[in-house]
Amino acid sequence: MSSVTGAAAIASALEQLGVEVIFGLVGIPVVQIAEEAIALGIKFIAFRNEQAASYAATAYGYLTGKPGVCLVVGGPGVLHAMAGVGNSSANAFPLLLLAGSCESNQVNKGAFQELDAVALLAPWCKSTVRVSVETLSADIASAFRVSWYGRPGPSYVDLPANIIQGHIEENEQSRIVAPPPRPGPDPARILNVADLLHNAKAPLLVIGKGAAFARAESIIGQLVDYTQIPFLPTPMGKGVLPDSHPLNVASARSAALKEADVVLILGARLNWILHYGEAPKWKSGAKLVQVDISAEEIGRNNGDASAGIVGDINIVVAELLTILKAQEWIYASSSPYHKIISVSKEKNEAKARVAAEVRTEPMGYTQVFNIVKKTLNRLSSPEAGNIVYISEGANTMDISRSIFNLDHPRLRLDAGTHATMGVGLGYAIAAHAVYNPPDSEASHKKIVCIEGDSAFGFSMAEVETMARYSMDCLIFVINNGGIYHGDSSDAESWLRLQQNTIKGGDGQGLRSTSLGWEVGYEKMAEICGGQGYIVHTQEELENATVEGFHSKVPVVINVIIEAGQTKKLAVNIEANDP
Ligand code: ADP
Ligand code: MG
Repeated sequence: MSSVTGAAAIASALEQLGVEVIFGLVGIPVVQIAEEAIALGIKFIAFRNEQAASYAATAYGYLTGKPGVCLVVGGPGVLHAMAGVGNSSANAFPLLLLAGSCESNQVNKGAFQELDAVALLAPWCKSTVRVSVETLSADIASAFRVSWYGRPGPSYVDLPANIIQGHIEENEQSRIVAPPPRPGPDPARILNVADLLHNAKAPLLVIGKGAAFARAESIIGQLVDYTQIPFLPTPMGKGVLPDSHPLNVASARSAALKEADVVLILGARLNWILHYGEAPKWKSGAKLVQVDISAEEIGRNNGDASAGIVGDINIVVAELLTILKAQEWIYASSSPYHKIISVSKEKNEAKARVAAEVRTEPMGYTQVFNIVKKTLNRLSSPEAGNIVYISEGANTMDISRSIFNLDHPRLRLDAGTHATMGVGLGYAIAAHAVYNPPDSEASHKKIVCIEGDSAFGFSMAEVETMARYSMDCLIFVINNGGIYHGDSSDAESWLRLQQNTIKGGDGQGLRSTSLGWEVGYEKMAEICGGQGYIVHTQEELENATVEGFHSKVPVVINVIIEAGQTKKLAVNIEANDP
């Protein structure tokens, strides 16, 4: 039996698990693992901060449907990567985090980057393990499996330096982890839901990002097309069925929620995004039937535990559809619920059309998004599904969500369940890795980030990561000089506020929401081989969007928009409520 370094054995264990990309940031001694992985043909994407790397790995997990892998150093590296652990856990994205740790015989001696990461992460992970020499590849495979099976989430593997750097007997045993077995539903509950639908006056489907993760678009599409039940996507459930589908009630969200009496919830939790399933947003007494892979989720908040179904969405929906077809049940198009929804849709869409035409200088949010949308749609229509949208920032995310339409699943990522600002650039790098694998020019998708200036600031150094790997991401920074609306409406008043912080000044200085005035974010691209644009007008924005779309390097378009507390926000149509 031959012996190899621990680093080589770890890399080979990952290769056997089918890992194609590792997101991370190296140092001693995990750099050896990264180098061994590269030697095996695994792509290692080296970030500027573990936080963004860990976020990227979670997005990769969501988009590919199997664990994203993140490799970092111990101690501070783990602390930064905890952000991804939280993100994975909150969003139910599969993540395998691997980190170095100090030599086993130096524990508690104040060793280099010493941290008891297993103890730290145990409450937040589905599994944590400090590997041993005898079980190294089995430990890694087990962590990978647990993060993936059931409701996905984070697993942590702690790799002591002496194991990474030591020699171990090569373990020939293959450690392949098959895709998770899919749980099927209780047949009695399927019959019960069919009964509920028969008696429903106002049935509704809610489609969440669990349905996108489950790749259930085809069967859900068949259910909707056969039964004619209206559907509402959650923010990341957008695109599971095309936004353009006539039964999509997103633009009549409030009315649809308020009137629905039987709601089938496919892969979404009744958390803040869905107002906990409670009145007054929902009709009181409405039957909210959750379909979820996690039994613990059923009955949480206002979900009906007696009607909820545990199972994989693909199987549950297929069985329900079989029953409904056998019963020849179709929801009547003449129902008053359809009428209420269409009236509300018309009203809200008319409002949105008016808002889309508003022209101001400086530009407002709605104006910017409509120009970008029109320009991008000219370059690639939503039906083509060649654009992935990533969006974060308070107003930026909320207002853009209803403007950019999607016709395909898993093409939109946002701040998610934790409303985490700072995920955007890491997510963009992950999306680029997923959708633009090497040597596949044909399937190229453009990654478009729509970032608030505050959100961009969390991870703007990752533009350099994009540039280094020739990732042609197109980033719009919607720059109003602050969090939310920014606080100054012009350069002079900003300066006045800034100077007031000087001792002896007469005011209170910059607000907590203030950021720098017209910061040159576009330069972040220019300093590392990307392209930068600063735009103030509609024409400049259109031109930069076209050039940015065709560019082969990362592009930052710094869009200066109206700022200042006193300015009225862009018309916020109802659909902007998540
Ligand atoms: P959203 O943010 O869109 O509301 P959530 O993240 O709150 O969605 O909910 C997604 C839900 O989907 C989670 O409760 C998760 O357990 C569930 N889920 C994930 N995969 C599947 C699957 N294959 N089948 C059923 N439910 C799933
Ligand atoms: Mg801002």
